[in-house]
Amino acid sequence: PYSLGPSVTDYDSRRAQWLRAHPQFPATIAQGRPRVLVVTGSSPRRCSDPEGDHVLLRSFKNKADYCRIHGFDIFYSTAVLDPELTGFWTKLPLLRTLMLAHPETEFLWWMDSDVVFTDMLFEPPWSRYAAHNLVLPGWDDKVYDAKSWLSINAGSFIIRNCQWSLDLLHAWAVMGPRGPVRFEYGKRFADALSDRKPYESDDQSALVYLLVTDRDRWGHKTFLESSYSLHGYWADIVDRYEYLRRNGKPGGAAASGGGEVWPLVTHFVGCKPCGGDDGTYEPERCQRGMERALNFGDDQILKLYGFEHESLNTTAVRRARNDTGGGPLDTDDEELAHLLHPSFRAV
Ligand code: UDP
Ligand code: MN
Repeated sequence: PYSLGPSVTDYDSRRAQWLRAHPQFPATIAQGRPRVLVVTGSSPRRCSDPEGDHVLLRSFKNKADYCRIHGFDIFYSTAVLDPELTGFWTKLPLLRTLMLAHPETEFLWWMDSDVVFTDMLFEPPWSRYAAHNLVLPGWDDKVYDAKSWLSINAGSFIIRNCQWSLDLLHAWAVMGPRGPVRFEYGKRFADALSDRKPYESDDQSALVYLLVTDRDRWGHKTFLESSYSLHGYWADIVDRYEYLRRNGKPGGAAASGGGEVWPLVTHFVGCKPCGGDDGTYEPERCQRGMERALNFGDDQILKLYGFEHESLNTTAVRRARNDTGGGPLDTDDEELAHLLHPSFRAV
């Protein structure tokens, strides 16, 4: 059968050895802070929608802003590394390649191009995942009882750099090669899952399929996260940003102090910002939603510099506080200092 690449064995001990030999590149950058690489990308070709590439640029800027604040690295791919694994499947060879090339990285965080960070301050609770290798947005009962292909989301997930993950990527990729294999697995998914038709296999159904058909092998190292929006469905969110802003603040549930919790990400499933037609939603509704999500995220960055958007529906900005001329010299706001100089967060 198809293989992602030469089989890698004994990876954990070889990685540990590499880390010992390279103490200048530790996989844990500070107490409780693993080294994280955010991985995203888009097609090698320009978008068919004339607005598409601009949306992708702004979405990438959004991720770069988030990564800078949290001290994460970021990798953007525009290459399809394996011609068998096209489209959404291309994240698999990419993650494998980056894992092997960066033993110093503890977690890789895959982000679709149509996923936007909308809580710039919240950071995943890393210590919760100490015993797990894969963190998926999802629900136990929807995966294992309902066996729904929508029980998880493959557009934003976190995976540990280890042998188990390499094995998972391999088992996962076997279902993705173009042509007859995709159709064959599409039929198997339709049999094994409760709500999926027998069309070509997709990476998300394939992951649910692995979990439900081989729970012993994959389930106990997979954390299904539903306590915050590792994936947030855009249609339920994009009209609520003003309300969220009036009634809550960034930083997750702990920071909100009983107020509204902001979604960590807003994911534009079914929208195709780059063009092409998913046929699920009105393109105008998608465009307006993306504009609002990007501006909502950007406002959290601009605020650090004393600016804000005039409204979430426009690119125009205005000054949000008096310019004292002194910048950080004039404030003892510690949170602001941390956000402007994020390396402090690693200490
Ligand atoms: N992707 C990529 N290269 C490609 C096609 C897709 O890196 O050639 C990435 C891109 O980040 C996209 C994700 O794979 O968001 C999922 O692909 P899909 O076709 O599901 O796009 P979406 O519906 O998320 O826009
Ligand atoms: Mn997506």
